[in-house]
Amino acid sequence: MTIAPPSGLGAGPAALTNEELQNFVASPLAGCAGTLEPDEWYPIAAKPARARVEAARALAVCAACPVRAECLELSLRTWSGAGQHGVWGGLVEADRNSLRREWLRGAPVTALLARLARAR
Ligand code: SF4
Repeated sequence: MTIAPPSGLGAGPAALTNEELQNFVASPLAGCAGTLEPDEWYPIAAKPARARVEAARALAVCAACPVRAECLELSLRTWSGAGQHGVWGGLVEADRNSLRREWLRGAPVTALLARLARAR
């Protein structure tokens, strides 16, 4: 079976509409489709290190997800709603909040994720 990618693939997350980003996150490409229990995507701890432990299985799924950047972009754009809570783009809320300040100043999510990957 061939899975057709959502339209916009290759355009870069910043160039996509919220609807296009949502299509990526809800597509079969998304690593979280049908995996893990819902609670595993919503760590309770406020401290980032503890939240990462609680969400370790979800974060491992995100690490291999091909739409991670689109997911992070959508989270940051919808921060006043659902995008603030739980795991998005391979990051817990506190870690996304740290990146959000740079994103608001114009840093693309692809650059932010690349920096995180180099730091690990
Ligand atoms: S980055 Fe994580 S939360 Fe986002 S679509 Fe991929 S697996 Fe799901």
